[in-house]
Formats: sequence, structure tokens, C-alpha cells
Amino acid sequence: MEKLSEKRTPIRVGFYDIEKTIGKGNFAVVKLARHRLTKTEVAIKIIDKTQLQAADLRRAYREVRVLKKLHHPHIIRLYQVMETKNMLYIVTEYAPQGEIFEHIARHGRLPEPHARRIYWQVVSAVDYCHKRSVVHRDLKAENLLLDAEGSVKLADFGFSTWWTQETSLSTWCGSPPYAAPEVFEGRQYTGPEVDIWVILLIMNDGIEIQNGDVKIMKIKITFPHFFNRVLV
Ligand code: ATP
Ligand code: MG
Repeated sequence: MEKLSEKRTPIRVGFYDIEKTIGKGNFAVVKLARHRLTKTEVAIKIIDKTQLQAADLRRAYREVRVLKKLHHPHIIRLYQVMETKNMLYIVTEYAPQGEIFEHIARHGRLPEPHARRIYWQVVSAVDYCHKRSVVHRDLKAENLLLDAEGSVKLADFGFSTWWTQETSLSTWCGSPPYAAPEVFEGRQYTGPEVDIWVILLIMNDGIEIQNGDVKIMKIKITFPHFFNRVLV
């Protein structure tokens, strides 16, 4: 029988009981937590502000500001933000099936009908962001999560920013295997094209996951004759 002294009281954040760690990023740890009353599962990104450089902290606040603006079925929904002197807690919808990256690493490439559905969901989420002046800048299979039904939830807006047609950006963002050429070369860019690069890379079989590593394949992108009309 379990002794009283051995019973672990759950760690609490606001109304949530922390259950386990589900992810670790460069700047944050992500925990699965459950609301004490409604029992709803959530993900809480916990950021120790004392460990961050000023620029990284600004990025964390920007992630919150961006998430507040985005309401889309294929984008992780922000529920609540809590802040103390040292800590920042970003409470979001939980995606129980985790990263598409893990899914592909474990089960291999997706069957085409499934891949087509996932792809459509990613395009619709990214298009929604671009139309609301947000560019994600860190699209990758690790930041595409799956909910209980296997639908996409775009996550991790830590590198996102606002873009306009008139201004250009130059910050080096994202992850080397997925970075667009203009980002790699330190050139200026408008914004959406660096997200679209990753989408084209995925669409053209440009990425392969082997032994947990992302490999970029040689790709040849061909555009259908009606592409111009689709873009307008
Ligand atoms: P990095 O700097 O490595 O990109 P990060 O610190 O910005 O990471 P996130 O990418 O937001 O943090 O989260 C890290 C990982 O935690 C994700 O890749 C994913 O595995 C897990 N995770 C984050 N949010 C959720 C969620 N809502 N549901 C399920 N898992 C999540
Ligand atoms: Mg991430």
C-alpha cells in the first residue's frame, strides 16, 4: 500500500495540474497538464524568463501576441497566459498525437490520401497566417502536431513575426535543413516566401527523415500551367 508520505502532490500552475513533460525546446519546456475542474488536457509552454536573453524574451512575448490573433482549426489555439516575476506560462490546446516528425520517423511516409489531407490542412493554416500579416518562419515537421483525429495543428510561433508587402525582413530564422535560400544567404525577404519554400520542399518530396535526422533531397520544382492564376 502506498504510504501517505510517498503520495506525490501534483505541481500546480493556476487551475492546472502538471502531468508530464511532452517537449523540450531551446527556450522552453512543454508540459501536459489537466484542468482541475473540467479535466481538459492542455499543453503549457513554461519559459524561465531569467534564463533568456532580451531578444529571446521579446520573441516569447511576440509568440503570445501572434497566437492571440490566430483562430483557425489547424493552428494550436491559445487558451491562457500566466506570468510571474520569473516565469511565463503559455497555455494552449493539446495535440495528443504529437509531432508529424515523430509519426513519419516511426511509421515511414504517409499513405497518399492521408498526406493529401495533411498537406491541405498545412496550406490552409499557413495561408490564414499570411492573410493576417503573420509569417511563421519555423515551419518544419517538428512544429506540425496532430490532434486526436490526426488533423494538423500548426504550433511554435516562437520565430513568427508581422510582415507587410512594403517592408522586408532579414533575421535568420528557423532550422538549417528547412531554411529558404534567401534566409541562408542573409538576403532580405518579404516573409511569406520563406514559409512557402518549406511547403514546396515537402510537396516535392524534398525531405526525408532517416534515423531521426532530416535530409534534404535534390528537388526539382515544377509548376502546373495554371499556377499563376492560382496565385493571383
Ligand atoms: P524549439 O525551439 O525546439 O522549436 P520551442 O521551445 O519553441 O522549441 P515548441 O516547439 O513550442 O517549443 O515545443 C517543443 C515541443 O513540445 C514540440 O515540438 C512538441 O513535441 C511539443 N509540444 C509543444 N506544444 C504542444 C502541444 N500543444 N501539444 C502537444 N505537444 C506539444
Ligand atoms: Mg519547436
